[in-house]
Amino acid sequence: MPHGMVKAAINRGSSPEPPPGTRILVVGGGYVGMYTALRLQRELKAQLRDGRVGITVITPDPYMTYQPFLPEAAAGSISPRHVVVPLRRVLDRCHIVIGEARRIDHAARTATVTTLATEEEGTGPVEIGYDELVLAPGSVSRTLPVPGLADYAIGFKTVEEAIGLRNHVIEQMDIASSTRDPAVRDAALTFVFVGGGYAGVEALAELEDMARYTARYYHNIKPEDLKWILVEASDRILPEVGEEMGKYAIRELRGRNIDVRLQTRLDSCENRVAVLSDGARFPTRTVVWTAGVKPAPVLAATDLPLNERGRLKCTAKLQVEGVEHAWAAGDAAAVPDVTADEKDKECAPNAQHAVRQAKALAENIAASVDGRPLREYAHKYVGSVASLGLHKGVAHVYGRKLKGYPAWFMHRAYHLSRVPTFNRKARVLAEWTLAGLFKREIVSLGSLEHPRAEFELAAGGRPAGRGPEPGPKGPGGKEN
Ligand SMILES: Cc1cc2nc3c(=O)[nH]c(=O)nc-3n(C[C@H](O)[C@H](O)[C@H](O)COP(=O)(O)OP(=O)(O)OC[C@H]3O[C@@H](n4cnc5c(N)ncnc54)[C@H](O)[C@@H]3O)c2cc1C
Repeated sequence: MPHGMVKAAINRGSSPEPPPGTRILVVGGGYVGMYTALRLQRELKAQLRDGRVGITVITPDPYMTYQPFLPEAAAGSISPRHVVVPLRRVLDRCHIVIGEARRIDHAARTATVTTLATEEEGTGPVEIGYDELVLAPGSVSRTLPVPGLADYAIGFKTVEEAIGLRNHVIEQMDIASSTRDPAVRDAALTFVFVGGGYAGVEALAELEDMARYTARYYHNIKPEDLKWILVEASDRILPEVGEEMGKYAIRELRGRNIDVRLQTRLDSCENRVAVLSDGARFPTRTVVWTAGVKPAPVLAATDLPLNERGRLKCTAKLQVEGVEHAWAAGDAAAVPDVTADEKDKECAPNAQHAVRQAKALAENIAASVDGRPLREYAHKYVGSVASLGLHKGVAHVYGRKLKGYPAWFMHRAYHLSRVPTFNRKARVLAEWTLAGLFKREIVSLGSLEHPRAEFELAAGGRPAGRGPEPGPKGPGGKEN
């Protein structure tokens, strides 16, 4: 195993001491990054203790986001802090660097990284050397060249987006309640979601549920005044739960007056008007884009092999194809599904695979460090569960189909068992229990996104992100 020197010390803000011994570099602190590092801590305990191995995790955020809980965070059923797992606490034997890998030169075993400190000091990126690389940067929203999309839409992949959207929806109800202009009111109360996978459907269903409840506190808004539209290009939604349960989900949503439009695309959303391929036009201040994901952009800045969709070509042992000492898993990796009947089938980009792949990957790295044989990753997809709002859901797991309350209960039980750390499980359970006893939170804290606005106003300046500014204003009050 090579033992080169770190080319440049990591900047202030992360510990300047590089880990000693065999240097394992994990890029990404999401599902795969966190679970791989966690498992490695356990598998290589002795080596970490005596300095034969060091693990560095590069992550833009100091936390891992449990994405399946984002819709419930948007609905206010779980507070944002409980949807994320603090990496420094969980990975206490790893070296955490808050930053982003910009380039990977695997031939030279170096990652070019920007950190909070390099950005603050304007010193340019640093290079971090490694011996074993784990690439787990996940995916980003897959957008299309739809006019107006970049200016007016929001994604639903991060806790910031989920909470921004919650604040935005309630803010729209405040606008609708106070305006005298029916056109403004109509646009404020129209919410367009594009993409019928679990992210889009769960986000829409949870927010609609929350907004319907919230409407009872507005003297001039009735739940029927809110217009929710789900736009899906294919002829089904929630493919993860199968055809029959997908059809049930459509019936359930339509029963709540949600306008589900299949085989329809968003053609444009310029000037706050969503134009659909079926000719419909909806003036709206809210377009949520959840129409799929694509691999993280950093993959294109590596010397590692990618497939036609930009995912890293991997073997079933989770090694990057054709090179040594490079490993990958999760949304970023094209891992062959050895349990599938079809040849060349890849594992789908979902948490079910990401968690299990991370475990297998860490065990394989530990085996390779110890000179033991590697094992292939094999997991047959067991189905999925989805929430459609409070007490509503749909599930198709191990061949069993459930709907309504039992599916919703299963959704909660499953994710409670899966959310990392006992601490998080206890906090989420406590929140759900309290929510059963008290009324739902209906407050929008959008002003949290502009903490200096009040002071700037007092000091005589123009408040950032507030006031009558020109230009498009996206959900969450952010200037685009
Ligand atoms: C709203 C929502 C709901 C979902 N619900 C489900 C569900 O119910 N069931 C299910 O199976 N799946 C679900 N998923 C999918 C699941 O969350 C993903 O498949 C899973 O997170 C993939 O894990 P990952 O580690 O590959 O990527 P991620 O968990 O996204 O982690 C990638 C990490 O890498 C970081 N990163 C990116 N670029 C860089 C860089 N250049 N340098 C350093 N770090 C970088 C990112 O910031 C992120 O922290 C859901 C996804 C969403 C968005």
